[in-house]
Amino acid sequence: MQNGQVENAPVVIVGAGQAGFSVAAKLRDLGHTARITLVGAEPHPPYQRPPLSKGYLLGELTEERLYLRPPAFYEQKAIELRLGTEVETIDRDGREVTLSDGSTLPYAHLVLATGSRPRLLPPDQGGNLEGVYYLRSIADIRKLADEFVAGRRVVIIGGGYIGLEAAAVSAKLGLSVTLVESAPRILQRVASAHTASFFRELHRGHGVEILEGAGLAQLTGRNGRVTHAVLTDGRSLPADFVIVGIGIKPNVELAEIAGLDVENGIKVDSRCRTVDRAILAAGDCASFPWKGRHIRLESVGNAVDQGEAAARTIMGQPQEYHAEPWFWSDQFDCKLQIAGLSGDYDCAVTRLVSDTALSVWYYKQEKLLAVDAINQPAAYMVAKRLIAQGKSPDKAKVGDAGFELKSLLA
Ligand code: FAD
Repeated sequence: MQNGQVENAPVVIVGAGQAGFSVAAKLRDLGHTARITLVGAEPHPPYQRPPLSKGYLLGELTEERLYLRPPAFYEQKAIELRLGTEVETIDRDGREVTLSDGSTLPYAHLVLATGSRPRLLPPDQGGNLEGVYYLRSIADIRKLADEFVAGRRVVIIGGGYIGLEAAAVSAKLGLSVTLVESAPRILQRVASAHTASFFRELHRGHGVEILEGAGLAQLTGRNGRVTHAVLTDGRSLPADFVIVGIGIKPNVELAEIAGLDVENGIKVDSRCRTVDRAILAAGDCASFPWKGRHIRLESVGNAVDQGEAAARTIMGQPQEYHAEPWFWSDQFDCKLQIAGLSGDYDCAVTRLVSDTALSVWYYKQEKLLAVDAINQPAAYMVAKRLIAQGKSPDKAKVGDAGFELKSLLA
């Protein structure tokens, strides 16, 4: 398609989540005037998921507060929402998708923003018992809301961010909480031992029992409902209900069936294009080039920025998508903010400002890769800018709590 024609060509976006919303809104901002259809399997307009394991789970937010925009926005912007509807097949030759209600939609550009879904506990481990829950959607939270009664016992499987946030909410609501992590420590995949030990102590201080290096053998139950979590070492933990947070899987099946490349996500180039130039992908489902390899990020920042990058490509104004990963987590009264990806760091320097305010700076040789900032928004802001500029401050300086971090930006 020639530049100049794009404004008049229909765009279909599969997935009305954070990334799908970002594509649609950015297309209109950039002057796209033709039909934009956002097809979403869930019945809700696009909403933010982070509060599902934080304020919304605590009962502090109404559902409407989760919505990225009020419903009127979509009318004003002429973004057609097809909610409670799935895209079932893609006809790449005919440039048309078929929806679960039997209708079809033509496209000039198709964006796959299908997100991800929780890894499920298999039935032979008790995953199909009643009282076993996941945290991914508004529907998931509605299902478990009634379980949160003070004094009840919840077992949480998985010591990543979702599991820890669920533990914090449960403890705040007065439940008796045990968190089980099979790896040697919580946050094993995503943070340094120091960050993990800070959160371990924080949780223990609030009465959460954390069991590390403790594999789940099986959930057992009575009359079809979960009653215990049995660990591989034979311990049996009583449970009124269980929350499972053992990671997610990208939703790639639609792309696979359509013959697109899939490798830990839908493979795209730096302009968010799949091997079929009319089809793009963004958000949790997309695997994109980053520093010489392909990665997939599971974060709001990536969903927003990559969605916008996809919109620019569609409008014929492509820019290489250079992800600058950032993430956050709220647990009790602590805010963790993360800039960069610590991945294969070989040295972590801790900057201890107080018992509840610190940052951990991850280096590979002398190169700064990432920073975890706990109740240290200023350190986070400085770190984010340094990483974006490719600057690596001296380790001794960042480790000295008396050193003024802002001077590094001068
Ligand atoms: P999603 O938000 O998953 O949206 C994809 C949508 O596509 C879904 O609604 C799905 O139903 C729909 N879909 C899939 N297939 C089809 C189909 N064939 N047809 C129609 N629709 C389809 N990130 C952070 O940065 N910070 C946080 O603190 C944080 N906390 C989180 C807490 C929780 C509980 C969860 C679940 C996630 C959290 N995240 C956080 C991650 C962040 O929310 C995700 O990375 C982000 O939502 C990804 O957006 P997305 O649009 O790619 O995918």
